[in-house]
Amino acid sequence: MTRILVTNDDGVDAPGIQALAEAMTEFGDVDIAAPAFNQSATGHKKTLYSTIPIEETQLANGMPALAVHGSPADCIALCAMGLRPFPPDLIVSGVNNGENLSQDITYSGTVTAALEGAIHGVPAVAFSLARRDAHDVEDYAEAVRIAKIVVAKVLNQALPPLTILNVNIPPGEAKGIRVTRQGIRIYRDALEHLEGAVRIVGDPPAGYFDELGTDLWAVHRGYASITPIHLDLTAHRYLAELSNWDW
Ligand code: MN
Repeated sequence: MTRILVTNDDGVDAPGIQALAEAMTEFGDVDIAAPAFNQSATGHKKTLYSTIPIEETQLANGMPALAVHGSPADCIALCAMGLRPFPPDLIVSGVNNGENLSQDITYSGTVTAALEGAIHGVPAVAFSLARRDAHDVEDYAEAVRIAKIVVAKVLNQALPPLTILNVNIPPGEAKGIRVTRQGIRIYRDALEHLEGAVRIVGDPPAGYFDELGTDLWAVHRGYASITPIHLDLTAHRYLAELSNWDW
């Protein structure tokens, strides 16, 4: 029997994980381990210096779930260490409330949970919906439709080592699916000064939306974007030049 482990970064109560977990029951047995609270933009965090409370809980639809007071990557790592049957055939993360494109992926708990899966040798896919106003399970219907297409193919074809898929679904009905590369974001963060503190504010990130073949390009033209992401972060194209410095 196919076994699928589901996580996210918006937290175990988020509608996106419920929509995704329900969809995955079509493919096999589903385990859920997700952060107890919203862990968006926590990156690839490993909780080593404090205890990690865990609770057996349920999604709003009654599906049993493990709530982890840690990061999304912790959820996967703890399952790998024995909190859930491991390895599953596939790990899926999301569906995130908001896109995870280009440099977003290093901030994204949705994506880094999938990367943790790759570290443990399990095929993994991150799903994000490029709209911020998805409040109900029904709002994720189009994301779930795309997720089923992707999962069916990944279960049949597998993925190479240390490689995940980062899937972003546009708002509205997707015009199709495009395989893309990472684009380039332009962040517009600004500093707000408070009494003895500061806060990051500013407009949502922009980016080079016209760079053909990128994730930003695809999603902003109404296509679902699938970017293969590799955990080897070496700048291979720069290796030769760096070697030519007078070391
Ligand atoms: Mn999130």
